[in-house]
Amino acid sequence: MATIVVFAEQTNGQARRASLECIGAARSAGGTVVAVTCGEGASGAAAAFGKAGAAEVICLAGSGPFSPDATAADLAAVVRDSGATAFLAPATVTGKDIAPRVAAHLDVTLFSDVTGFASSGASFQVLRPWLAGKALATLTSTAPVFCATTRPNAFAPGAPVDAPKVSQRPATAGGKATVTAVEAKTAGKLDVKEAGVVVSGGRGMKGPENFGLIEQLAAAFGNAATGASRAVVDAGWRPHAEQVGQTGKTVAPQLYIAVGISGAIQHLAGMRTSKVIVAINKDKDAPIFKLADYGIVGDALEVLPALTAAVKAAKAQH
Ligand SMILES: Cc1cc2nc3c(=O)[nH]c(=O)nc-3n(C[C@H](O)[C@H](O)[C@H](O)COP(=O)(O)OP(=O)(O)OC[C@H]3O[C@@H](n4cnc5c(N)ncnc54)[C@H](O)[C@@H]3O)c2cc1C
Repeated sequence: MATIVVFAEQTNGQARRASLECIGAARSAGGTVVAVTCGEGASGAAAAFGKAGAAEVICLAGSGPFSPDATAADLAAVVRDSGATAFLAPATVTGKDIAPRVAAHLDVTLFSDVTGFASSGASFQVLRPWLAGKALATLTSTAPVFCATTRPNAFAPGAPVDAPKVSQRPATAGGKATVTAVEAKTAGKLDVKEAGVVVSGGRGMKGPENFGLIEQLAAAFGNAATGASRAVVDAGWRPHAEQVGQTGKTVAPQLYIAVGISGAIQHLAGMRTSKVIVAINKDKDAPIFKLADYGIVGDALEVLPALTAAVKAAKAQH
């Protein structure tokens, strides 16, 4: 079976969900997965990577501050040493920084934001949304090593491997760029890109003071993140980290709830591949209803408390 190397991200020993899905993507492509991880507490995440389907976990040790170019060089070396036919990274901020560098080291094309595998084997055939999600392209790679990033929430983690082989490999020291500090603006909050449920608010929320209603609905679901349209981010009602759309983040959760959002093409570009879309808008002709699977025509400030109560009641029954 072909070997696929996956860049597996973790924070303080906690595996990132997008990496578990990326391992699942590699398994769905028919590969034996070698997960390569790095950073403080890396070995603590090894079991989680094995549970998601990695047969082997390599921890890059002694790397000092994280350097994307040094880590990319190490990943390319693992690809070469293992004779892998593919390299995958999640399309997270770090994954998108690392993957093109690995592709450059291997002198191959990078396929970004892949959402599915049409076939694999001698050549990889992948699915990727194009034109802001309006079309789905099937792309074929004939390169000796297939390199891609996988969209968060597009794949499920793979079947567990009981006892993954765990080893350490010395990391290259002193890359050209190093990350000296990370300031998390939304510390402790689930990121919109990784949440299973996203509740987003737009200008129809009337003011920043009403976003507590969005947060309460998200909290009622439990595994949800709060998102926002650009209009409310530009107005300073919400942080930019929450912006969904063409100039914000691309999300593909199981459930996307758009509240008081008109459905401009630039917003749809970031959420149209969500599995189920619910729109709440007081205008029955709002464009968002054309894309939505379910729609509620009404005042968001009245609908949200009722919906939150209904979600809590439904959860209490299970
Ligand atoms: C180059 C470019 C890039 C862009 N990138 C992005 C992007 O990444 N993300 C993004 O979102 N936008 C982006 N935009 C902006 C986009 O075009 C829209 O202006 C924006 O999405 C509108 O935000 P909105 O839906 O919150 O506001 P509006 O368009 O003003 O819509 C508000 C909606 O709320 C409804 N409403 C009002 N009151 C209530 C109520 N009480 N209850 C329920 N509903 C109510 C209204 O009927 C309306 O449909 C971009 C634009 C450009 C030009």
